[in-house]
Amino acid sequence: MYISTRSETAPVSAAQAILAGLAPDGGLYVPRRMPALDLDALRATRLSYTDLAFRVLSPFFPEFDGRQLAAALETSSARFDSPEVAPLARHGSYHFLELFHGPTLAFKDLALTLMGALTGLARDRLGVRDEIVILVATSGDTGKAALAGFSDMPGIRIVVFYPARGVSAVQRLQMVSHEAGNAAVVGIEGSFDDAQRGVKALFADAELAGSLERRALRLSSANSINIARLLPQIVYYVKAWRDLADSGKLGPNGEMDVAVPTGNFGNILAASYAKAMGLPIRNLICASNRNHVLSDFFETGRYDRRREFYTTSSPSMDILVSSNLERLVFEAAGRDPARTAQLMGRLAAEGSFSLSEAERAVFADFRSGWADETAAAAAIRELYDASGYLIDPHTAVAVAVADRLRGGSDGEVPLVVAATASPFKFPATVAAAIGLTAAEPTAPAAAPTAASTTRPATPSVQDEDAATLAELDLAERLAERAGLELPQAVRELRDRPRRHDRVVAPEDMKSTLLELLERP
Ligand SMILES: *Cc1c(COP(=O)(O)O)cnc(C)c1O
Repeated sequence: MYISTRSETAPVSAAQAILAGLAPDGGLYVPRRMPALDLDALRATRLSYTDLAFRVLSPFFPEFDGRQLAAALETSSARFDSPEVAPLARHGSYHFLELFHGPTLAFKDLALTLMGALTGLARDRLGVRDEIVILVATSGDTGKAALAGFSDMPGIRIVVFYPARGVSAVQRLQMVSHEAGNAAVVGIEGSFDDAQRGVKALFADAELAGSLERRALRLSSANSINIARLLPQIVYYVKAWRDLADSGKLGPNGEMDVAVPTGNFGNILAASYAKAMGLPIRNLICASNRNHVLSDFFETGRYDRRREFYTTSSPSMDILVSSNLERLVFEAAGRDPARTAQLMGRLAAEGSFSLSEAERAVFADFRSGWADETAAAAAIRELYDASGYLIDPHTAVAVAVADRLRGGSDGEVPLVVAATASPFKFPATVAAAIGLTAAEPTAPAAAPTAASTTRPATPSVQDEDAATLAELDLAERLAERAGLELPQAVRELRDRPRRHDRVVAPEDMKSTLLELLERP
C-alpha cells in the first residue's frame, strides 16, 4: 500500500500508484511500510540479479502475479550486456557499481527496462482500457531510457520533452533518432527545470485530463517520481553489498558507504530506502555539481532554488528542483503529510524552505559536497592515469566529492560509487580530461555517412550535426586510447536517421502534446 506525502487520503495499491505517477494532491507516493530485507538469506545463496531483484521487489508489488513479475525482471536483465547486470568493479580505493550496461548506457535503464512491463501489469490488474500516455521530462538520460523501455508497447504512448541545448550530442542523438510508432520527442527552449515544470503543469491540468478522458487516454509519468522508477533502484545497492560480503570487503558491522552523483534525488533516495529496509549503509554521500542546491541543503537545512542555473559537463545533474527530495522531507517530518505539504508549498510559492534541527537530525547519515568541472575533470584524469579506468563526468563528481569527504583514505568501510553513465556517452568531456583533443589527427577523417544525407535540411540542424559527428569521432578515438570497445549503442548513432526535430517554447508544451495525440 502507498500513501501520499501531502495528505492523509486512503492508501492506494501499487498498480494505482504506478498508473497515477503523482498523487492527486500533488504529493508523491511512498510505501506505507518498508518491507525488511532478509540479509542472511540474501547472503547465503548465490542469487542472480534477477532472483535478487525478485526477492527485494516482490513485497512492494504484492498484487502482481509472481510469475509475471519474475518474467518481467528476466526480460529486463536480458537487456544488459553484463550477466551481472550491475557489476562491481574495484579501481583504486573505490568500488564502482557499474550501472551503465543497459541499452542507453546510463543507470536509468535499471528501472526503465522494467517499467514498461510494470505499467502493463498495473493496467491489466486495474482493468484499464484507456491508452496510457507516458509524459517524460528529461535532463538527458531518462528520455532515451524511457523510449527504449516503452518502445512499441501495446496500449502505451510516450512523449519526451528535453532541454534542446542542455544535453550532450550523444544524448540528443539517442533521442531524436528513436524509432518507434508510439513515441514522440520534443525539444524545449529552456532548461530541464522548465521541462519538468511544464510536465508537472500538464499533470495538474484538469481541462487537459478531461479532454484526454473523452478520447480514452490517460496520462502517466516515467519520471523518477513514479514508484516504478524508484523501487527497482533499491536492488543494485543490495547487489553491491552482497558482492562486498562475498569478497570479504565489508567494514565493521558489515557496513559500506555509498557515493551517488545526484540530480533529481531518485538514485540516492533508493539507497536510503535500502537502508530503511535493513541494508547496512553507514553514510550516503550526496554529490552535487555546480548546481549545488542539494549539498547546500544538507549543510544548512535550508533548500533554496533561487540561484543562478549552470549548464555543466554533468547535464543529468543540472537541476535546481529535485523532485524526490520531497520523499526525504516526508521522512524528516516524521511522515507528517501536513508538514510536508507546508514545506513544499513554501518551495513553490517562495522558492525556499527550511527544516528544524530535529527534522535535520533524521538524515544525519547523509554527507554531501559539490565539485565543479575542474575538480571532476581532475578526478577523471587521476583515475585514468592511476588505473586506466575511465569514468563519466557524473561519476567523476561523486569521486571528487567522496575523496574530499573521506580524505582520500581507503578507510575501514568500503566506498561504493554509483557509476551512473558510460564515459562514452560524454566523449567530449572525458577526452578533454585525459588530454585527448579533437584536433589530434589519428584516425582518418570520417567519410560522409548515411546520416549526412538523411538529416533535415535546416542550416542550424546541419551545424549541430557537424558538432555531433565530431563528438562521435572523439568517442571512437577515446575507446581506442583506452583500449576498450566503443559500445554498440554509441557506434550505431552515426548512421541512424534523425526522426524528431521539433523544438518548442515551454508555454507551448500543452498545445504540442494535444497535437501529437491527434495522430493515430
Ligand atoms: C539521472 C542521472 C543522474 C542523477 O540521478 P538522480 O536520480 O536524478 O539523482 C546522475 N548521473 C547520470 C548519468 C544520470 O543519468
